[in-house]
Amino acid sequence: MPIRLKSLATTLLLLLTMAATGSTPAVDWVIVAKIREEGLQRSRVMEYEGYIADVLGARLTLSRDMQRGQAWLQGELTRIGLVNVAAEPFMDFGVTWDNEYVSLHLLEPDYTPMVGYPIAHTRGTDGRQVVQAVIVDLLVKADLEKYRGTLKGKAVLVTPPAVIDLAPLTNGVPRLTDAQLKAMEQVVIVPPRPVAARTARNPELLTAEEKLAFYQAEGVVVVLQCESGWLGAVRGFSRPGSRNDGWSRAGMLATPAIVAVTPEHYNRMYRILKREIPVTIEVEVRNRIGESVEQANNIVGEIPGSDLKDEVVMLGAHFDTWHASPNASDNTSGVAVALEAMRILKAVGAKPRRTIRIALWSGEEQGLFGSRAYVREHFGNPKDPAIGAKPASEKLSVYFNQDYGAGQYRGIYLQGNEQARTQLTEWMEPFRDLGMTVVSNQSVGSTDHIAFDEVGLPGFQFLQDHIPGTGGHTNLDFYDTIQSEDLMKNAVIMASYVWHAAMADARMPRKSLK
Ligand SMILES: [Zn+2]
Repeated sequence: MPIRLKSLATTLLLLLTMAATGSTPAVDWVIVAKIREEGLQRSRVMEYEGYIADVLGARLTLSRDMQRGQAWLQGELTRIGLVNVAAEPFMDFGVTWDNEYVSLHLLEPDYTPMVGYPIAHTRGTDGRQVVQAVIVDLLVKADLEKYRGTLKGKAVLVTPPAVIDLAPLTNGVPRLTDAQLKAMEQVVIVPPRPVAARTARNPELLTAEEKLAFYQAEGVVVVLQCESGWLGAVRGFSRPGSRNDGWSRAGMLATPAIVAVTPEHYNRMYRILKREIPVTIEVEVRNRIGESVEQANNIVGEIPGSDLKDEVVMLGAHFDTWHASPNASDNTSGVAVALEAMRILKAVGAKPRRTIRIALWSGEEQGLFGSRAYVREHFGNPKDPAIGAKPASEKLSVYFNQDYGAGQYRGIYLQGNEQARTQLTEWMEPFRDLGMTVVSNQSVGSTDHIAFDEVGLPGFQFLQDHIPGTGGHTNLDFYDTIQSEDLMKNAVIMASYVWHAAMADARMPRKSLK
């Protein structure tokens, strides 16, 4: 038979089989071709990435920066053509906090500008201050007496000098090799080790909150610290105790300014002080602290479904970031991919059976607050008798997440859901040439798919490549390190997975609840 006739016959046979069984084929190659054309030849993913990272910048949960970002985000979802675009408030998240200005200089024994960022939810300095720096080493309560009465008007260096990891500089950051991917595919899951009996905490040890209260009572001007091990990188998160006091205004005002400094500048001050040579710095920090408690929001939008429109397929990423950089990789890249996946689906004229809903979370960096609250509110929690499973939980098929940096998808983690293996593998087939080849039976954590997974709803995170340069959770996470081809591939794969889940005959199978 001539090739064309043969393929026509095969197609007819396939259509007849489908008609006979009434089942949808595993992969819709026609829509895959359209998605690939749109996403690989007319991509907008770097437009999204660039606008969010460059123009909007950092987006700490419940900051003015975040509110500005979320206003843009809702506009963009509407421009893409989504419906039911909304900001869904999910909890009181304290008062807003924004850094407006930082200036840090070594004056003596040698002038140099220094790089530092305030820790979130702290207050600033009283204007510009020129102060002496001292090392403070507090461990137990008895240590307080050594320093009492000596710290007024000082800058205190409170962490040991940073140890710098030169390995990534000398070795680079290689992408995952075929052997590594094979190992991730074949990994044997060992049973979890029994949890060791908890030992009582030594009551003499000072907590981070007790140390801060001491610095405040002693009249310290600024606390300097360094918890980063990479040259040029500042790691700075939240004030200790901020979550416990509900990110309150009183809590923010009750501690000195805290500034995280790069290892090279911090270590230099530390070494000079160890020589017993005085260190003088100039510092000014201005933070804007809100007056009243406000709610944090998640942002959602939809492509409505057709015959199965009450059922939902979800995709998403966290829109919130830490505050010292735009966090181009963590997680602007995930947001850009999710937006682009929705744009692609609209551009190819997708009319899904199930409703496709994008959710761009906040409160992730503080502990998955946004996604957990959303899941509790919409789908409930069968493990918690006070809430129970809500009717909508029967209508959710699956949630797909991106939050492991800006590297391309090389596979997907099965998350212990063996019954989903066939579908996740079949949907991968059109993207093997893009390097997407592995279903890993590993369960991975610490991002928003967990909010679904932990209540028995299918939630998956893609297995992503390691790429060099990105500095998630640091001041160095900028657009410049993002590799466009990786995000283009991800958006195409995300769009296709979401599409196939929205069109499948059955909802994604669920694993049994532990
Ligand atoms: Zn993240």
